[in-house]
Amino acid sequence: MASPLREYLADPFLSQMYEQVRAVGPIRSISVDLTHACNLRCQGCYFFAEGMDQTAAPVDERNFDAFIEREKSRGTNFVTVVGGEPALELGRLRKIYENFWMSVATNGTLRIPYDGLEQMPIGVAVWGDHETDRRLRGGDEVFAHALKNYRDDPRAFWYYTLTPGNAHEVPGVVRQCVENGNRVLFNFYGDLTGVGGELDHRRGFDEVHREVQRMIAEYPDHILLSDYVSKVVSTGTLYGDRWGHEVCTSLSVDHPVNRERLANGKPFNRHFVAYNADLLTTRRCCTSVDRACESCFDVWGHFSWIMLNLRQHLGSKREFTAWLTTMYLFYVINRIVDFDEGVELLPEIHRRTLTAPRVPVAVG
Ligand code: SF4
Ligand code: SF4
Repeated sequence: MASPLREYLADPFLSQMYEQVRAVGPIRSISVDLTHACNLRCQGCYFFAEGMDQTAAPVDERNFDAFIEREKSRGTNFVTVVGGEPALELGRLRKIYENFWMSVATNGTLRIPYDGLEQMPIGVAVWGDHETDRRLRGGDEVFAHALKNYRDDPRAFWYYTLTPGNAHEVPGVVRQCVENGNRVLFNFYGDLTGVGGELDHRRGFDEVHREVQRMIAEYPDHILLSDYVSKVVSTGTLYGDRWGHEVCTSLSVDHPVNRERLANGKPFNRHFVAYNADLLTTRRCCTSVDRACESCFDVWGHFSWIMLNLRQHLGSKREFTAWLTTMYLFYVINRIVDFDEGVELLPEIHRRTLTAPRVPVAVG
């Protein structure tokens, strides 16, 4: 063990997280569009914006079963299920759950049953308070339905996509999610379709990031994103590198468009591929065919960016803590390590990584 690591791990809080993460062994992940269909058409949805629904899911169940077997023999042990709306394909979702560690992103309008899926990590999307949600995701009260579907469901966490001009909505949305009995992870909106105004990511996420900090301070046992990860996503920087294709770690390793990038010496996930819904072809990355990376604020992509850059985080105990808590939160949210034990540690994780004042200071 390198000496700084030994010094940092003399801290029992850090060593307990580190040991759990190490005990799991390597994560070999892929992402899969479980279906090309969705019951909504949200404004700025990356899936439809880039025509990813043009690739159809296999009709024959045997093709799906063969895909699972292929991935198992390739060594895949973690699957991020996206789409389309995965809750439209419950049988296939169950098969993925039974064969891999996994997590699923859903719009929350169709409840994923509990029986037999008790440990499934379910990220339920919300894009703002009811009015914003209605405007961006159609008039069907998506947020209200999703709240009802996942009330007090321990599997569900809110996958709250923050829009840059709507920081004022954050406390109200988070309060509703917490009062609904769920935890909250944040994502950041990229204005792919050029809507502009309060959705324009070029406005920057400073204000939104400060709200995240306030939410951490207010609900330390319910927020699944650390101040550190929020900062990396909202600024798009990590040790002088700027987020984008040249440093991105979640790229399909078999895709020709990534060949040069994967040879540039920056770390990357050596197993990862992002499968289209046909389960045969792959695309550049989970969230894109060829979008401009400057519009990408995908939180899982940034988790991976941090996680694969341990060496840069060894300069001090504080930096190592930022790295280790990122790893650990990824493992907890996705139930790769014991979830109940992990969420018990949330307040201490935030106590060590939150850089803002713990209590909002009134000015004037
Ligand atoms: S629910 Fe998800 S997949 Fe469906 S349109 Fe909205 S963002 Fe896209
Ligand atoms: S769009 Fe995002 S995830 Fe895709 S290559 Fe660019 S930075 Fe990476």
